[in-house]
Amino acid sequence: MTLSPADLPAVRAALLAWFDRAGRDLPWRVGAEGKRDPYRVWVSEVLLQQTQVARGRVYFERFLAAFPTVEALAAAPIEAVLKAWEGCGYYARARNLHRAAGVIVREGMPTTYGGWRALPGVGPYTAAAVASLAFGEARAVSDGNVRRVLARIHGERQPTSIWVQARADDLLDPARPGALNEAVMDLGATVCTPKNPRCPECPVSAWCAAFRSGEPAAFPAPKVRAAVREVRAVALLLGDEKEAVLERREGTLLGGLMGLPTEVVAEGTREEDTLARLAARLGATVTGELGRVTHTMTHRLVTLTVYGGQGGPERRPVADAALSRLDHKALELWRARQESLFAEV
Ligand code: SF4
Repeated sequence: MTLSPADLPAVRAALLAWFDRAGRDLPWRVGAEGKRDPYRVWVSEVLLQQTQVARGRVYFERFLAAFPTVEALAAAPIEAVLKAWEGCGYYARARNLHRAAGVIVREGMPTTYGGWRALPGVGPYTAAAVASLAFGEARAVSDGNVRRVLARIHGERQPTSIWVQARADDLLDPARPGALNEAVMDLGATVCTPKNPRCPECPVSAWCAAFRSGEPAAFPAPKVRAAVREVRAVALLLGDEKEAVLERREGTLLGGLMGLPTEVVAEGTREEDTLARLAARLGATVTGELGRVTHTMTHRLVTLTVYGGQGGPERRPVADAALSRLDHKALELWRARQESLFAEV
């Protein structure tokens, strides 16, 4: 069942009244409605695409402390940007932010959806968010929260991305597009949550088909997840938690990032042989296993066996490099080993 067009003005008004009363106070919501700081909106949207708001808030504060303006971001070396991005995943996004900041400083801050879409790495969601929140352009955002809220209101179990965008466009308030977008984002994040929607507190329950069904959490139907592929790899920790041999990785496993020297154990080969090849490449000897860490990436579960060793190339300060969470987990093994040795003495 589709919400009637005649209902839309009342649904918008209810959402906006709720947002004016209960909207979240977030650090990137600086500036009046429809005139938010575009730099903050942009950075926050790129960050929040891959992290929860609570954690994103910490990363956002850290990133803004390092690069308070788009000029500061454009002028920074890419290594410093990657370092500030540490823990946020998907480093390609940090690289694109940096490249786009350079374009903005050279050509000026875009003020339209089309202008933002033309920047490196800016997709439809981010462009719609910045254009509506910072410049008052009537563009509806469409992400996971929006998809869930609209699927429930309309009682749609299998919403396609085209369907979601069309319903979001219908619902957008031309007079307050930024506020309407923020209202739907906030409703999805705080009230219409995935598992336990709080329908009695919801401003749009009177129009919600999922609420009427008595099973609101059944909408939309769960997506069929792609199979997770298991990847085995070995890493050699030459040095310690402060100074270690670090390499720029190539290939699909965290390619482009600095990290402990690592080799993927190819299908049908033995871990010992891969480790021996890695040690020979580095001119190092293996002293023993430190332990195993696992890390989930998109569609991949990585199991990394970390070994200690001696010799090999020059050590570098670990604190200066942008490391993945996988590497931090590997360094944690070294720390745990030191603590247990200390406890035995
Ligand atoms: S009534 Fe319930 S299911 Fe419907 S939009 Fe509100 S919180 Fe979500």
